[in-house]
Amino acid sequence: MDIYRRIRAAYAAYTGEKRVIGRSVEGRSLFAFCMGEGSPVGIAVYAVHAREYITAHLALEHLKRPVKGTVWFVPLVDPDGALLVEKGISSVRNAARRKFLLSLNGSEDFSLWKANIEGVDLNVNFPARWGTGEHNVFAPAPSDYVGECPLSARESRALAAFTLSVRPDYTLSFHTKGEELYWHFHQPPLRLARDFLFARALSRASGYPLKEAPRSAGGYKDWCVETLHIPALTVEAGSNALSHPIKENALPQLIEKAGSLVQAASQAYKELPWTKNSCGRPSNSPNAPKRRGKSPSERSSS
Ligand SMILES: [Zn+2]
Repeated sequence: MDIYRRIRAAYAAYTGEKRVIGRSVEGRSLFAFCMGEGSPVGIAVYAVHAREYITAHLALEHLKRPVKGTVWFVPLVDPDGALLVEKGISSVRNAARRKFLLSLNGSEDFSLWKANIEGVDLNVNFPARWGTGEHNVFAPAPSDYVGECPLSARESRALAAFTLSVRPDYTLSFHTKGEELYWHFHQPPLRLARDFLFARALSRASGYPLKEAPRSAGGYKDWCVETLHIPALTVEAGSNALSHPIKENALPQLIEKAGSLVQAASQAYKELPWTKNSCGRPSNSPNAPKRRGKSPSERSSS
């Protein structure tokens, strides 16, 4: 079963709250699964990059493990790209697009493709210092193309709209590979301290070291940090010894270190001395804003 069918079947079988948050370029559903209730509220996203679709399998593992508060899981942000990597050019429905992709890629081997099937790299398409990243390119390509404007891609636009509707307290974005965590994006001092504590807890839970990429921009995590003012991490799961795309038989290796990261994040957020609404003030202070206790569905209807 291909990765899209796998996630679609899991979605059909899922008895908890769930939502289709948008459609891909080729009209495939972008599925979101909700687990738990109350605060804090997290979002975990996977397979933002096509060749990293092994992380969609990791999402299914994460969905088996209980979390504190609420977590929304979006297992397959780029379904068209993931299928292009997994099954090749025949997975693309539109004939003109097949031609376009073959000319862009220069071969029928799409195993290293990262972008969506319009050649936009979704993880540089967010409005967070968009277009200023070191490796950005400005025309459609297998990777690093920022798009015509921020959120020009359907998939990143759907993810941004969904994120704004959920108003999460933290987000995790799962990529491969390198076994490291990225958390920093121009935070001012107080948020820097809070976000570092959050990141350090996840580093301890996974054994992945904290890294910085000062010359990157436009990522989902960057946007969450800069616009939503919340702690957000990019998780690079999987050893560098593995090659792209990481095959399913390496999944146990990924699970060994990254299997409990969503759980750990939900716990770590609860233990932070500051929350996003009381940055600089202890969260148990009588003057601190009340934390939300409702589930996302209750919130959206209120
Ligand atoms: Zn990636």
